[in-house]
Amino acid sequence: MSGEIKAVCPLCGAPQNRETRPFCSKRCADIDLHRWLSGQYRVPVVEEDGGDTEETDEE
Ligand SMILES: [Zn+2]
Repeated sequence: MSGEIKAVCPLCGAPQNRETRPFCSKRCADIDLHRWLSGQYRVPVVEEDGGDTEETDEE
C-alpha cells in the first residue's frame, strides 16, 4: 500500500496534471489565479474617504 500519494486538484478534486500542478488543468489553475488576484486586490484597496482628511482643500 505504499507508493505515490494521489495528489488532487485543490479546486475540483480531480487528479493533478503534471503540467498544471497543483491543478488538474489549466482551467482550474486559471480559476485559482483569478481567485487569488481578486482576493489580493481586496486587501490593499482602502478608500481614503473617511472623515479624517488631513489635506482638505475646500477653501
Ligand atoms: Zn481541477
